[in-house]
Amino acid sequence: MTLALHGGSPVRATPWPSWPPPLDPRQRALVTEVLESGLWGATQGGSVVADLTAAFARLSGVPYGVAVGNATLGLFAALKGLGVGRGDEVIVPAYTFVASATAVLLAGAVPVIVDVDPLDLHLSPQAVQDALTSRTAAVMPVHLAGSSADMDPINALAARHGLKVVEDAAQAHGATYHDRPVGGLGDAGVYSFQASKAMTAGEGGLIVCRDQADHEAVWSVCNLGRRLGGQWYGHPEVGWNLRLTEIQAALLLPWLDRLDDEIDRRNAFCDALERELAHLPEEPVSLVPQPPGTTRDSRHLLMLRVDAPVDRGFLLTAMAAEGVPLESGYPPLGTMAALTAEGARAEPCPAATEAAASVVWVRQSMLMDDPARAADVAEALTKVLTYHEKP
Ligand SMILES: *Cc1c(COP(=O)(O)O)cnc(C)c1O
Repeated sequence: MTLALHGGSPVRATPWPSWPPPLDPRQRALVTEVLESGLWGATQGGSVVADLTAAFARLSGVPYGVAVGNATLGLFAALKGLGVGRGDEVIVPAYTFVASATAVLLAGAVPVIVDVDPLDLHLSPQAVQDALTSRTAAVMPVHLAGSSADMDPINALAARHGLKVVEDAAQAHGATYHDRPVGGLGDAGVYSFQASKAMTAGEGGLIVCRDQADHEAVWSVCNLGRRLGGQWYGHPEVGWNLRLTEIQAALLLPWLDRLDDEIDRRNAFCDALERELAHLPEEPVSLVPQPPGTTRDSRHLLMLRVDAPVDRGFLLTAMAAEGVPLESGYPPLGTMAALTAEGARAEPCPAATEAAASVVWVRQSMLMDDPARAADVAEALTKVLTYHEKP
């Protein structure tokens, strides 16, 4: 079969679902209500940001939350509010979005980039243990692609060494670990509502936490150093305006009612694709497994490991031509010169390096399609990998 790249017909000619999904009537109604009220900011007496914040705290199994403009700033504010700053080291995984590390830099601390588990690609508890120094103040497990990092050993290490745990839950709205929601497993958890995420308002973020004093400190960081319930022009701490707007919250609050259905839908697609891939001779492509303890994977995206000696550039270009565009995923954070120039320290990260070379992602919008269409992904992969063997 001629590759679409070489003028053949593509496996998939129709478009994949768009992201975000179409506005639903409740989003439209609430956004309109907020717009017409004139209460667009979160400090004017509107209640949508407060309702969203309470709903996310509940979703995460903790009492407190603070809505913010994005998760990069949310991770910064969580660290800062927990007292992490200058002279401190914060351990982050090497296979994650760059913001996990730049948030640490923003807090004035040093990101220490350590390796991930070679199979599930989440932060390796052993690598955390190996990177501990007298300056380690916090660890930032990332719930990558919608599945939880293996939190029990990380929390145990943190308890033993007095470390704060800030969960980067930017990709994991609705995920659970041993049936407990992510976000509420550490000292603070941070969600993102940026345009590519599983719930989005274009931009946005939300911090959740368990402890009242932590909540007050994080809230203050996000509200110009004010004291919760204190005077408007009283600023006992240094802080910033990191707030979310009521308009953004109005897009997000109704979304919570359909989040579960969307997670189910993406899981059904992933399960169907796993069955398709298991039928391929020699199984050249497999799903990256979830860490131990994952009980609900929110499937923000699907990571696939390609065990075939195929040129990566060719694979990605040929798949896109077949109508099944894949993403190439993260370069290891330790290879980013801009981070090390700012003081980030990288431990050797062979597993993240290997993942950068062999793992590709199926994006969320594709996972939202009818599970029967998972066959398109498997068929395109088969076509491209077969050609590669016998051009
Ligand atoms: C998207 C993302 C962030 C940053 O979120 P923003 O809201 O875009 O600032 C941080 N960490 C991870 C793992 C992400 O995927």
